[in-house]
Amino acid sequence: MRKKIVAGNWKMNMDYQEGISLFSEVANMVKDEVIGNQQIIVCSPFIHLHSIASLAKESENVSVGAQNIHQEDAGAYTGEISAKQVRSTGAEYVILGHSERRAYFGESDELLAQKVNIALTHGLIPIFCIGETREERESGDFFDVIKTQLEKGVFHLSASDFSKIILAYEPVWAIGTGLTASPEQAQEVHAFIRKQIEAKYGAAVADETSVLYGGSCNPKNAPDLFSQPDIDGGLIGGASLKSRDFTDIVKVFN
Ligand code: 13P
Repeated sequence: MRKKIVAGNWKMNMDYQEGISLFSEVANMVKDEVIGNQQIIVCSPFIHLHSIASLAKESENVSVGAQNIHQEDAGAYTGEISAKQVRSTGAEYVILGHSERRAYFGESDELLAQKVNIALTHGLIPIFCIGETREERESGDFFDVIKTQLEKGVFHLSASDFSKIILAYEPVWAIGTGLTASPEQAQEVHAFIRKQIEAKYGAAVADETSVLYGGSCNPKNAPDLFSQPDIDGGLIGGASLKSRDFTDIVKVFN
């Protein structure tokens, strides 16, 4: 049975102390909440990774991820962080393909494919984000957009590598806007994503791949979203910055 996952993306929020406090609160609040096939992940800025990965080891219920890596192994890339460096902190996941990275940092599908490869090489699990802009939704082209993002970003992987990754559907028009996709809108795209996976890798792989929803997800709308057959949890931005909201979303699966 595929995993149910709630992952927080703190983005560029939380100073060092605030992040440690938030993580400790979350770990404490979910101590007794995690069900068998559920995974909770917190993706923090780089500065917190080592400390919260150490805390995560003690709590066992929460895993840690980064929000970006460089596409090369090592070298003269001032200011960048490699997959190996992230993995050495104890972090196990990395968000790749987030629309903010695509839009503000010009990350192309080709670059993202390189990042996916280097993450897997160093034992980091990509949480790979795809999703259409408002214009693409309104023009009706969004299925093509999502298909292309899958084909160029992750469908070059072997079936065994693809089986390691997590996908997140994040419609750009729903991110940080308070405008959530309706459960039906989200389910329609999630089912489409699973169909693409099935066409490429077969039904067994498609059935085992967790596909998360992201975009203004909160404790109120999470129950309806997560009850859709092809939505396996959420990638949470704003609501992951409040321990109560984040853990309430985690508890939706209980
Ligand atoms: P919000 O939950 O703040 O809309 O952000 C979603 C997101 O981008 C998670 O990666």
